[in-house]
Amino acid sequence: MKDTFKHKGLRQQLVEIIKNKGIKDEKVLEAIGHIPRHLFMDSGFLDHAYQDKAFPIAADQTISQPYTVAFQTELLQVKPGDKILEIGTGSGYQTAVLCELGAVVYSIERQRELYKKTSKFLPKLGYRAKKLIFGDGYIGLKEEAPFNGIIVTAGAPFVPKPLLSQLTIGGRLVIPVGDDIQIMTLYIRKGLKDFEKHEFGEFRFVPLLEDKN
Ligand code: SAH
Repeated sequence: MKDTFKHKGLRQQLVEIIKNKGIKDEKVLEAIGHIPRHLFMDSGFLDHAYQDKAFPIAADQTISQPYTVAFQTELLQVKPGDKILEIGTGSGYQTAVLCELGAVVYSIERQRELYKKTSKFLPKLGYRAKKLIFGDGYIGLKEEAPFNGIIVTAGAPFVPKPLLSQLTIGGRLVIPVGDDIQIMTLYIRKGLKDFEKHEFGEFRFVPLLEDKN
């Protein structure tokens, strides 16, 4: 597991690219600048790690595009100590970004293979999520709720009700909603049954699938 000067240089270029695409949050940019993304990808794709692109990982899934990770994280407005729930652990790259921001991270993955692989891998890089869970993100994580933020990293055909109800008042849910193409959507909880909704344009994710396997 090597992180060389070359990798660091490529990472700074990547930071510039996503900055030019409109990401402003310095803490998010710093996190992208720190995390060795090439180590989250299968070795055959090493050369592609610092392009602003999504790439295949195990179990037919993808590591999200860095711009998308940054965009979603910026919307989440993470403060150190915030309790954050991530749906779709995948490679663990987004989990690492949340750890870099000082969040207390819970993350759910429905593919056992990915859950196992990422559970072993993240601590090796020094990223310690509070809890990685093998389960179904549609139901959230009631026993640990409420969360200051919930981030869904797969395309949801609809907004799962449990996720809204597991937010603190003032909490934020960032979720791409749609079937083939998703609209990035932010919900802010204003009261027990009162949610503010904002939409932020089109993105493409692998689908949020029900149950686990
Ligand atoms: N955050 C990841 C993105 C991975 S792609 C990263 O940074 O690499 C989306 C992930 O969501 C996949 O790993 C997929 O298996 C997972 N997923 C799909 N449906 C799910 C569900 N219902 N609950 C939890 N995870 C799910």
